[in-house]
Order: sequence, then structure tokens, then C-alpha cells
Amino acid sequence: MFFLDYKLSLSIYLLKYMECKRCLNNDKEYFYLGSKGYYCRKCIAFGRAMIEEDNEAISLNDINEGSEEYELLYPLTSYQKEISDKCAEAIKNNNVLIHAITGSGKTELVIKSISEALKNKKRVGFAIPRRQVVLDLAKRFKGYFINASVIPVCEGYTSIIDGDLIICTTHQLYRYYQIFDLLILDEPDAYPFNNNEVLHGIARTSCKGHIIYLTATPNEELIRKVNNHELVKLTLNRRPHGYPLIIPKVIIFPRVILLFILIKWIKERDKPIMVFVPTISMASQLGYLLKILFPCFICTSKTKNKDEIIEEYLRGNNILICTTIMERGITIKNVDVCVFIANHEIFDEASLTQIAGRVGRVMEYPKGEALFLLNKQSEAVNKSINNMKEANL
Ligand SMILES: [Zn+2]
Repeated sequence: MFFLDYKLSLSIYLLKYMECKRCLNNDKEYFYLGSKGYYCRKCIAFGRAMIEEDNEAISLNDINEGSEEYELLYPLTSYQKEISDKCAEAIKNNNVLIHAITGSGKTELVIKSISEALKNKKRVGFAIPRRQVVLDLAKRFKGYFINASVIPVCEGYTSIIDGDLIICTTHQLYRYYQIFDLLILDEPDAYPFNNNEVLHGIARTSCKGHIIYLTATPNEELIRKVNNHELVKLTLNRRPHGYPLIIPKVIIFPRVILLFILIKWIKERDKPIMVFVPTISMASQLGYLLKILFPCFICTSKTKNKDEIIEEYLRGNNILICTTIMERGITIKNVDVCVFIANHEIFDEASLTQIAGRVGRVMEYPKGEALFLLNKQSEAVNKSINNMKEANL
């Protein structure tokens, strides 16, 4: 009897102080007792993480000799160089937040820090929420670091997970428990990473060294960490061409009138246009209508042959009707963008900033126009515009 009581109180005690070593969850509601002991159900999608067993770090090959050597395609601007140097210095002893406005060339800001880590035979991870960006970035990094093994790890690319520089989706970080000496979390504010406690926990436990958060739109959590001195904040608010961010024009009217305004706006310009809409059904409805008047393409998460559609769209001064799936990671020369019903809840401050940030990214076309059409006031719209104005000061 005494023994049973003892066991019971021991397990209550354990439950109270348990923490999942993989996702850092400590909410006891998520701990289940299986045949082999307690495990965490919060991160169960990544396999069973036993609470009382130590997670073993996988063993990876040593970092290749000379992997730190790199060559950039374009030299850094003086603004970029300043941030790049400061980051490489700060990351030695701190976690760093780089707040770099859209189109300012943020990826290049961490190359020096990566190189210095590799030189010291340290393992580097670069994690991004979206799969396509992993593949694009891996190609880009292979071009920069020609002596390093740069490995993309994401859905469809998981047979090789060992490399000097590992570029992966945030979903794949669970494979790297306590592996990274330097981890770069790119766009931590983007879906599905944003507000996902499990993915954030897994990112933290994959890193035994320091983290660089890289974003154009830091969320409240990151700002709080800066204020608590947990992060060193570096800000880059100049695009390489030196022109300011394009501040969107805001128009508020009932929806029917917005539609006429949109048609007139499209008619007025002879250049590529992106029209962002909140839902897939609205994309098809608007596409159906606009196709009568203009050369239109539609791209949503349901679109099967996305790459071909984008390729077709880029062939002329066409219109792309799309959802937030296109808000990041794409640079289109000379594009103007419109957000139709920008007050819809799907558009948060970060996504509106990203969408407006599609305009004026390219050296030859640093200007352009962004239009937000609303059928009622929106706090997210106001916040994103204020932030862009602030960045331009
Ligand atoms: Zn867990």
C-alpha cells in the first residue's frame, strides 16, 4: 500500500515538473503514460518523445575543410555590410534579431556569420517555413559556399540530412536535436511557424548555440525578447537601391464600388499586376470576371501547376489573382500590387507588409504602386502602413 502511494506521489511530482525535451512543452495535459513511460502528445506528429529518456543527438560528419570560403554574386551595399559585420560580432555571445525591410536583401546579411561559424567547424542550420524557399535558397547557398556541402532538407528531400550547412523547413528541425551551433530562423512570422509553440520549441532544442531571427515583420514575441535584452536587435531599413518602401494607398468603399475601382486601376496600367484576395473562392470569382476584360492567371494553394502558371503570367503584362500563398519569396520586375478586401482577417500586419513589399524590389524598377481596397476599417492595415512609414524615416 505504502509502495503504491509512493509511486503515485512520485508520478504526480514528475508530472508537475515534466518538460518535453523536444518541444519544451510543460503542460501536463499533454503528457500520456504509455507502456514505456510518459510521452508528449503535443509534438506527437513528429514521433513519440519519451519524457524520462534522454534524446540522443544524431551524429554527423565533421565540417569540411575550407567550407567557410564564399563569394557573393553582388557585393554588399554599405548598409548591408554594416549589419552583416555587426551580426557576425554579436552572434558570438548573443541571440540576434535582424529586422530588415522587405526587398533589402536580408539573406546576404547572415553569410558572414555563417562563414565564421563554419571556419570554427561549427554546424549551421538555416530554417524557413516554406518548402519551395528551402530549395531556392539551397541553390543560392551552393553558389556562395562552393566548398561546403549545402543540403536541402524538406518534404521529398530527406534521404540526406547531413551537411556543413543544412537548409530545411522548420518542420524538419525535429531531426536535429541539439545539433546546431548557429541556427538562422528566416521569417519566423510566416505560416505555419508563426504562433506554433511546438515548432518554436523544436527550433530551440535543435540549437545548442545561438539563433539569428531574420524577418521583415518582427512579431510581439520577438519585440518582447528585445526589450528583455534576450536578443540583440539590428535594423536594416534601406533597400539596396536606396529608394524608400512603397507606401500603399488605402481606399474604403462598399465591395461593389471597390470592384469598379479595381477594374479602373488595372486599366490604367500597362505592367505586371498582382491582385491579392483573401479566399480561394474569391480568387475564382474575381478571376472569372476579370478574365473577360484582361489577360488573367489564378494562383492559390489549390492550383496544381503553379510553376507553369507563374511562368505564363511572367511572359507579358498580365494579371495574377492570388491568395497569401504568393505573399513572400517572389520578386517580379516592375510589378504593382493590389489587395482586394484588405480588411479581411486573413491579412495580418505581417502579410500586408510582405505584399506591399513585392513592389519596387528590383534595381531597375525601384518604384511602383500598392493599393489596399477595404470595405471597412482595419487595424492590421493601419499598423502595417505605420510600420512601413516608420521604416522610411
Ligand atoms: Zn513535445
